[in-house]
Amino acid sequence: MGATILLVEDEEAIREMTAFSLAQAGFDIEEAADAQQAVTCLAERRPDLILLDWMLPDISGIELARRFKREDLTRDIPLIMLTARGEEDEKLRGFDAGADDYITKPFSPKELIARIKAVLRRSSGLNGEVVSLGGLELDEGAHRIFANGRPVDMGPTEYRLLSFFMRHPERVYSRGQLLDRVWGSNVYVEERTVDVHIRRLRKALEAHGLARVIQTVRGAGYRFSAQE
Ligand code: CA
Repeated sequence: MGATILLVEDEEAIREMTAFSLAQAGFDIEEAADAQQAVTCLAERRPDLILLDWMLPDISGIELARRFKREDLTRDIPLIMLTARGEEDEKLRGFDAGADDYITKPFSPKELIARIKAVLRRSSGLNGEVVSLGGLELDEGAHRIFANGRPVDMGPTEYRLLSFFMRHPERVYSRGQLLDRVWGSNVYVEERTVDVHIRRLRKALEAHGLARVIQTVRGAGYRFSAQE
């Protein structure tokens, strides 16, 4: 399963071509044609990276980038700006606004994918480090979780949930806390959604005999425990 990328680009032809190449490379793509749609997408699902066009019809890409970097929910999401212009000052303004990288149009899909992978690696917070816990290995760089060397097959939400748990083991989180930390606090989903994904996650882990690492703490919530 690949990282999720939110692509914000108003030019339909470029957006479709880019989305197609990225999907081919194994990324999960969310598309937005303007700032308004981008904000809606972000409220529904937290992407692993945002590809943001410089020139948008409603709010400029640069203004939107600044907005993302001001808000708690979006601050940590890596950002690559797409620009038709390559002037030095434009680049600098992009970096000022908090972009992690930028790419000048026209770009080749190969170049874009290489940039995305580099930014994802840098921003994983773990610098490609692997967390090993409870028989599982979290490889943030590869965006995968392995059990005894075999990849655990799960959906993107289950991956986010499990990677959060593995980075915060032996602590109990309520459903509300998990919604805030994994789904994002702008998301209006019911607490029982958490139970649905916990169930799916346990099922994915069960295939590797590891369902026990996700523990229910009655009246409190859930905990990841590496202890028997
Ligand atoms: Ca544009």
